[in-house]
Amino acid sequence: MTAEFVTWIFLIALGVSVSLTVWLSRRQIRNVTSHRDRVPEGFEDAISLEAHAKAADYTCANQQFGLLQLAFGTIVLLAWTLGGGLELLNHGVLHVFGGDDAAAGSLLYPVTLVLVFTLIGSVIDLPFEWYQNFRIEEKFGFNRMSIKLWITDILKSMVLSVVVGVPLIAAVLWLMGVAGPMWWLWAWALWMTFNLLLMVIYPLFIAPLFNEFKPLEDDTLRTRVEGLMQRCGFSAKGLYVMDGSKRSAQSNAYFTGIGRSKRVVFYDTLLARLSTGELEAVLAHELGHFHHKHIMKLIAGLFVMSLIGLAALGWLAQQPAFYLGLGVTPNASASNDALALLLFLLALPSISVVFRPLSSRRSRQYEFEADAYAKTQSSGSDLASALVKLTEDNASTLTPDPWYVRFNYSHPPVVERLAALKSG
Ligand SMILES: [Zn+2]
Repeated sequence: MTAEFVTWIFLIALGVSVSLTVWLSRRQIRNVTSHRDRVPEGFEDAISLEAHAKAADYTCANQQFGLLQLAFGTIVLLAWTLGGGLELLNHGVLHVFGGDDAAAGSLLYPVTLVLVFTLIGSVIDLPFEWYQNFRIEEKFGFNRMSIKLWITDILKSMVLSVVVGVPLIAAVLWLMGVAGPMWWLWAWALWMTFNLLLMVIYPLFIAPLFNEFKPLEDDTLRTRVEGLMQRCGFSAKGLYVMDGSKRSAQSNAYFTGIGRSKRVVFYDTLLARLSTGELEAVLAHELGHFHHKHIMKLIAGLFVMSLIGLAALGWLAQQPAFYLGLGVTPNASASNDALALLLFLLALPSISVVFRPLSSRRSRQYEFEADAYAKTQSSGSDLASALVKLTEDNASTLTPDPWYVRFNYSHPPVVERLAALKSG
């Protein structure tokens, strides 16, 4: 393998991934725009033309902003790699540690390199996050965040990444240094343990740092909900209401956690909008995800993909062409592990785009399964009317482009979900 070969593979993968993303996004904009002036058949009574047009405008605004982010992200990626950005940063960090020879055997040098790189990346992203919240979400009436809350969130996330991320990165880099050529197998075991642990601690300790979670208070609703949870064999303590209205007017429900930390979370905005029957149906849908063990299946998928990824990294990290082809000269004395890790993470998204239809399709399949389960445990027509209300409130489009759906939709378009609920 030569450096030129690596460069070409990288450029071709990047070219394919960027063109594909642009093509899909433009298809989505075209399709949504061409249906903007008429509410699709069957939805005329439920969704006003005004709401339908708003969903189209919101979708297009997000797509156009996404294209801008893609252009910027591609420039940044090229600057880090072939443009010599990572090379420059590496020299800077090595200099602080007294040069290549002095940094040999040090764990602090690679950890610092990863940390500084991540910090620069997060700062570069901030203007985009600001624009998304305070321009786009604001314009469509969804943003409820003050600048103060936004900044507090950022600071909390940063502290959290340092507290959780630095020990993890340090452990992986340490394994890369001491565990021999099969380090990636050890790193995989560590990474999987970390993920399982995160599934337990996220709902219990991390999510509460950002939101307040309260048990359901409404008495009539609680009786219905407890009945349903009992029928489905789910602990009645597992339903929480979250103050989602603190950040956005959009509403949602989700399931999370494993073992004793597993729970269903309703946004307070959802509670305010849906009827008792509709809420019961949405809960039944979320319980359907547990019934079909979707979390465990997603974890199993993550296990396999991570093993393949880490094995690939284990091999690439030993090839000088991998570094040189992506614009970095490997260190002569100091460890190259952090450089390999960063280059791998930079190149990965361009390669993995081809697998996206597979993971999206599986995710949509899970949604159909959860819907079907909800129909057996509660009312299918209540779930249908809840889905229509959510579509309207969140300004989701009723007329997405089929190719865009194939690649990017983790949930089936609402039209398909309603059709599946009605049939069978
Ligand atoms: Zn679902």
